[in-house]
Amino acid sequence: MPSFFDTRIEFLKGVGPQKAALINTELGLFTYADLIQHYPFRYEDRTKFQSINSLNGDTPFVQIKGRVKKIETIGQMRKKRFVATFEDGTGEVELVWFKGIPWVSKKIKLGVDYVVFGKPTVFGRKVNFAHPEIEVLTTQNENISLLQPVYHTTEKLKSRFIDSKAISKLIRQVMAVSEHHILETLPDSLIDQFKLLDKKFALWHTHFPSNNELLTAARYRLKFEELFYIQLRLLKLKLTRLDKYRGQIFNDSSLLSNFYKNHLPFELTEAQKRVTKEIYLDMKSGKQMNRLLQGDVGSGKTIVAFICMLLVITKGAQASMMAPTEILAAQHYVGLKEYADKLNIGIAKLTGSSKTKERKAIHEGLLNGSIQILVGTHALIEDIVQFKNLGLAIIDEQHRFGVAQRAKLWEKNVDVYPHVLVMTATPIPRTLAMTLYGDLEVSTIDELPKGRKPIKTIHQYDSKRLQVFGFIKEQIAAKRQVYIVYPLIEESSKLDLKDLMDGYESITRSFPDNHVSIVNGKMKPQDKAFEMQRFIRHETQIMVATTVIEVGVNVPNASVMVIENAERFGLAQLHQLRGRVGRGADQSYCVLMTDYKLSKEARVRIDTMVRTNNGFEIADVDLKLRGPGDITGTQQSGVLDLLIADITKDFKILQTARNAAQDLLEADPELQSDENQSILRHIKSLKKSVVNWGRIS
Ligand code: ADP
Ligand code: MG
Repeated sequence: MPSFFDTRIEFLKGVGPQKAALINTELGLFTYADLIQHYPFRYEDRTKFQSINSLNGDTPFVQIKGRVKKIETIGQMRKKRFVATFEDGTGEVELVWFKGIPWVSKKIKLGVDYVVFGKPTVFGRKVNFAHPEIEVLTTQNENISLLQPVYHTTEKLKSRFIDSKAISKLIRQVMAVSEHHILETLPDSLIDQFKLLDKKFALWHTHFPSNNELLTAARYRLKFEELFYIQLRLLKLKLTRLDKYRGQIFNDSSLLSNFYKNHLPFELTEAQKRVTKEIYLDMKSGKQMNRLLQGDVGSGKTIVAFICMLLVITKGAQASMMAPTEILAAQHYVGLKEYADKLNIGIAKLTGSSKTKERKAIHEGLLNGSIQILVGTHALIEDIVQFKNLGLAIIDEQHRFGVAQRAKLWEKNVDVYPHVLVMTATPIPRTLAMTLYGDLEVSTIDELPKGRKPIKTIHQYDSKRLQVFGFIKEQIAAKRQVYIVYPLIEESSKLDLKDLMDGYESITRSFPDNHVSIVNGKMKPQDKAFEMQRFIRHETQIMVATTVIEVGVNVPNASVMVIENAERFGLAQLHQLRGRVGRGADQSYCVLMTDYKLSKEARVRIDTMVRTNNGFEIADVDLKLRGPGDITGTQQSGVLDLLIADITKDFKILQTARNAAQDLLEADPELQSDENQSILRHIKSLKKSVVNWGRIS
């Protein structure tokens, strides 16, 4: 049954099909519901006037009142601008217009009192407002007390007069006709417990706040609701799974003991032992495991994965490990094969570049059980890949697989869902983890293997290149190996590739006595793997590469990571790259090369890298700098397309909402009580739009 809120916006007065089509494509708003949930992204404070002497470059949008003291038109042609000197008794600012000069110069008069609204910026010692709003001061606008909502819009819309104010008007119109249709979406118990505003009131004051206090309360209510339903979904998913989904029981550790006794190459860290135990408990519980294994780069997740595989293999079942790239899959394959061979375990690798003949053999081996471990890329979730009995599916994911893809792995065993272990290489901020992986149990490796020396990170300007080369020579003389990485923003970018090739040539010239490997995204997978293997076998001393080596590559003898144009990398990437060294017992180094000129943000990134090796700290800075969308990739999961809550700032609300959802499900797991009917009703309306609600009911 279509609801009132599905009404399309062209039915609003003054919109019509053409305008609607424009709003559809520009803002993705189609229905009344979309429009109502197009929340302001900030508010302009028109409740008070600021004095000019209190303004600085960090001041947000403000309004000031005063008089124009002087007007002049400066500059020629494109540099021409209209400047009005504006004073309020405490100081002076300049109001500047670059466009519409004939119009403003006619409008603005000396000696008249005005209200000016805009964002102050500081140039030298002067504060100025570029293209401010300006109105003659009247008793009306002097006493107006208003928080004005500002809505996201686009240049194209603005050129058709659909600016923030116009959107505000539309929303006012929708809110007026919706009055009787807006239902409460949270039960009274929650509203009472957390002193929340009711839904209608909250919507109203989010769009049209009459004061700051109400605005805060209104937004809190909507954020709470948004996060509550996400958490409810995740927790319900978890509950349903625990309740309904059986798991194969893997309680025989004989193969494991054999491996521990005879083949384990080092002693496990306490953290590795602890998480192994946690996983073992899950795997023999009879319930399906869905666990997140997080640990910083180099913390030793691979061996833990292998140990879990052994539990499964002892009982005649199979295990798979899925990686995000071919190179990483190849690395895992090589690493795991070394252990597997010792125990006579059948292992195979399946990627997009596997040959047809190979594939056929793999498909057969998986069905007859002769292959016990399958390592691969996305290729292994294709439908054609069928197992005799998949007992454990591991994803080494680095944020690249979403909830939906994870679920696809479940279907690989039609009798009993396989146990699922998700490994994240980059530590992610708690808020993100709680949202992206809120349906999973969590194990954390919070300790690096013994004897590791923290990597020393150094920032060098490009002009110091010779010095850096000298350092590389010393390291190579000490039998170490070196990575030199160039940014590759786009796989296809010719410019980036040229950078890399130029770099490669200059390196081969500067290091005539050494062998140099090169790997880039344009090479065929076999060629990449071949070059990697040469480096792994220490046939080459230097590896010149683009970011294709970002994840997972493991060459313990490599002790120097030089990152060229480091300012072009994101923090997560820098941390991943740095994690490629420091894997052996030697002191390792990461050298970040940059130009003299650095943006403010780039400087924060570089400074953060130099200051800390702690992945969690880095992840938090990253989240603050970039926002969650960028970090996870937009296709991620759907759960992060938040309408009002902000994962970077609303951690407390998130925690409260999660606890509330947990309590509620504990008391009423099936949401059967009368009280909770509003929840069920709301879930039904969400189901259409959100992946995975379907699965839980
Ligand atoms: P990541 O967690 O980044 O996937 P890896 O599993 O690749 O880390 O491990 C990094 C390196 O540390 C590998 O060379 C691995 O053999 C080694 N390693 C793992 N656990 C230990 C340990 N307990 N003691 C010593 N070295 C270890
Ligand atoms: Mg790894």
